[in-house]
Amino acid sequence: MTGEAKRKRSIQALQDRLEDIHAEGQGVWQISIYGLDAVVEVMAAALAGSKTATGIALALEHLSQGVIRSGRTAEPVMCLLCDSAFKQERMPAAWILVHARRDDPTHAAGHGVCSNCLHRYPDMNALGIAITDYYRANAISDLRLLPPISEPGGIA
Ligand SMILES: [Zn+2]
Repeated sequence: MTGEAKRKRSIQALQDRLEDIHAEGQGVWQISIYGLDAVVEVMAAALAGSKTATGIALALEHLSQGVIRSGRTAEPVMCLLCDSAFKQERMPAAWILVHARRDDPTHAAGHGVCSNCLHRYPDMNALGIAITDYYRANAISDLRLLPPISEPGGIA
């Protein structure tokens, strides 16, 4: 399969998942970006007993395992913003978690962003805007931003 075909297939899967999230949250999403520092903080909070952090840590672990498994196949997990393929020796530099902004959401999506893409943006706000633009272009055309996006849960 070509890179283009792989990307089309992953966009279709993404669209299906995002539509579920969109319906569940009645259009309001929470998009969280976890760079390596944030992952360490989440793990520490999980070890200290935070239920929320434990949930996030489990989601990140699930995503990591998916990258490792897929890296051994012909259909590796790709960077959300470019055609870089991930594998165990080349893990995402940041993780994106998306879910409906409500208590106890049941649908979620997760993505990796490569270090090239992460460093293309001056800060997490700019990366958040790029990710929102990607979702808007590829899945939910009427996605809007609620300011300020630097606050937790500020992207919707
Ligand atoms: Zn990338």
